[in-house]
Amino acid sequence: MPLSIEQFICRSDNYGVLVHDPDSEQTLIIDAPEEKPIVAAIERTGWKPTMLLITHHHADHVAGNLGLKQRYGMPIYGPAAERDNIPGIDEAYDDGHTLSFGAYTIHVVSTPGHTAGHVSLFIPEAKLAFTGDTLFAMGCGRLLECQPPVMFESLKKIAEWPRDTVVHCGHEYTEANARFARSVDPENEVLQRRAKEVERLRASKEMTLPTTIGDELDTNPFLRWADPAIRGTLGMEDATDSGVFAELRRRKDAF
Ligand SMILES: [Zn+2]
Repeated sequence: MPLSIEQFICRSDNYGVLVHDPDSEQTLIIDAPEEKPIVAAIERTGWKPTMLLITHHHADHVAGNLGLKQRYGMPIYGPAAERDNIPGIDEAYDDGHTLSFGAYTIHVVSTPGHTAGHVSLFIPEAKLAFTGDTLFAMGCGRLLECQPPVMFESLKKIAEWPRDTVVHCGHEYTEANARFARSVDPENEVLQRRAKEVERLRASKEMTLPTTIGDELDTNPFLRWADPAIRGTLGMEDATDSGVFAELRRRKDAF
């Protein structure tokens, strides 16, 4: 049977996600922004958590760690480079590590940029990924601990996953991201359509995630460094891909 997903809002705009494998009866928690809504999701689904997987050390991704561990006792995994800042961590993982999840294999992919040790989690057989605060719908994370070329290399890795990979991200930032995307890619009709759909969803407080790699390749300016129209808007026709990315990130920070 395919994996089941339960996605819900925590705090104000963070996402909590549970992933359940009906065959092995194992359940992942991806990040722990807040204990209460995660407990509510566990009770609603009846799924018993077997692992908590952390993408990065920020408080709005680990705040529920100790409370959840006390309740459910599942091991907590987090990025090796950030282990000292991840409450209750049992096992550290890093680029290239794999974890078994029933018949599935979870691949740990190092995606620094937002934080220096940030990892994303990719389950190729399920065409499913979790990018924390690296990739967002039509956006990417702020560069709090790294220079732009580091994030560029991380996004390049993500951009190579199959187009039909379903991607869960750490935050509901899509509407604001769409406004910036339209400002640098105004002629992109796929983006215009998507932005309208996002406005409609947000008007009724619906979630705009998950997304897919294909939708991001078509509409996310932070994966479209090679696009001639975006390069034209920026006046950077002959710049490097990494240079275009850095300029986009700089403009978004000031947007
Ligand atoms: Zn963060």
